[in-house]
Amino acid sequence: MTVPTYPLIIGGADREAEGGATLDVPSPHTGEVIARIASASAADVDAAVGAARAALPAWRALAPLERGAAIARMAALFDQEAGDVARLVHEEMGKPLGEAQAEVARAGEVIHHFAAEAERLWEQYLPAGGGFGRGNHVRGEGIGVVASITPWNFPVALVVWKLAPALAAGCTLVVKPAQEAPLAAWRVCDIARRSGLPDGVVNCVLGDGPPLGEALATHDGVDKVAFTGSRRVAELIAGWAAPRLKALSLELGGHGPLVVLDDADLDVAVDVAATQGFANAGQACYSVNRVLVPRAREAEFLDALRARVATIELGPMATERGFERHRVLLDDARAGGATVEGGEVIEGRRLAPALVTNAGPGVKVVDEEPFTPIVTVMPYDTVDEAVAEANRPDYGLVGYVCGGDLRRTMDVARRLECGTVAVNGWRVVVPHAPYAGWKGSGVGAELGHPGLEAFIRWQHARVLA
Ligand code: NAD
Repeated sequence: MTVPTYPLIIGGADREAEGGATLDVPSPHTGEVIARIASASAADVDAAVGAARAALPAWRALAPLERGAAIARMAALFDQEAGDVARLVHEEMGKPLGEAQAEVARAGEVIHHFAAEAERLWEQYLPAGGGFGRGNHVRGEGIGVVASITPWNFPVALVVWKLAPALAAGCTLVVKPAQEAPLAAWRVCDIARRSGLPDGVVNCVLGDGPPLGEALATHDGVDKVAFTGSRRVAELIAGWAAPRLKALSLELGGHGPLVVLDDADLDVAVDVAATQGFANAGQACYSVNRVLVPRAREAEFLDALRARVATIELGPMATERGFERHRVLLDDARAGGATVEGGEVIEGRRLAPALVTNAGPGVKVVDEEPFTPIVTVMPYDTVDEAVAEANRPDYGLVGYVCGGDLRRTMDVARRLECGTVAVNGWRVVVPHAPYAGWKGSGVGAELGHPGLEAFIRWQHARVLA
């Protein structure tokens, strides 16, 4: 089998990396090399940023209707090629094909949404204030060149969440996918250029993550860094961006609580725990990690969850690091006196889902984002106690609550310190509502109107005479 090589995309053209350097992309299913990627140098990053800067004035100045139409053409081509994109996601990071198809379909909706949003970038004319002057003209424009730095777990969605609103706002981009899963993200950038977006509006650099991330976050030609990933790397990026006063958005990990109230429909609660606990083999920022159940209903809930978990088959862990972390977390839980059910190795990097009980603060899986297929079930006596535990770790991405009485359930939802709360169900993301990490889960928001404004800078012209 010939192994395809993915080049850099700079100024609309395929480019080899400096010196022809490449890296192998191994399959998480078999370990075989499935592709090679160009391995960019700092000079290649500089060329990509230069191309994005060169393309910026014309793209930023385009009338919103024309920009919206251009993004809509990209969305249409993305829809046509969605099957190929999903296959790449499945092959390069291991998620089951159905989950990959769902990720890509949802990403397509995000592109369509922001194509339409591009048309709604209205300017405002406000009346004069203070008793003099003629009025106030307020307008937004693209913040500039955006560096998109993303992880491997949702290799398409997390690029699109940045690319689509940034394009709508009038920004140009350098996209840097994760080294572990760069192929589908590259294909998104390739679709962008083949759909007719002007050369240089979307550039793509591939290669070794840390030096490329640093080259982008320290580059004077980058106006904003839009990052999704770990807190450890976010702190580095924020440190590099700070003395250069770059705009930043940081979407980080979570430690999702599911609060099950005493009048909840347990079938729904079990569905939420099982679906969100084990989606993408637990490698999701929105995972359900801790389920808080009224003590009186714990046994009933656990029996139903066990029966459901027995039917779940996971794809292989995307990385050796994640595979190893699963074992470390379960060993730590056992050493801390917890009970572990399941979690064994099926074959290769495929794991069985794990349930943990009798665990509390001080056990790693309850305190730190696991990012592996483990759900911990913890009983509570009062709702206040459940809310306090839900909010205890320094995370605040997605929370879940299931309850019968809607007023009481919504009251608990409001008390969860999370940017997103799913009530009586597990679907959390829609293109038109923001997705934001509170506390240690991030800075800023993606999607929705806030996710568009994140790529806009404002100008107020005060017309005095
Ligand atoms: P990571 O932080 O290791 O990598 C993220 C990106 O940063 C990659 O592109 C990587 O190449 C780059 N990078 C890695 N080391 C770097 C360095 N030293 N300097 C500069 N750049 C560097 O994260 P990961 O392990 O790939 O992803 C997992 C994390 O992402 C989890 O914490 C997960 O919860 C989080 N995540 C958050 C969201 C969200 O929307 N909030 C979504 C998905 C994943």
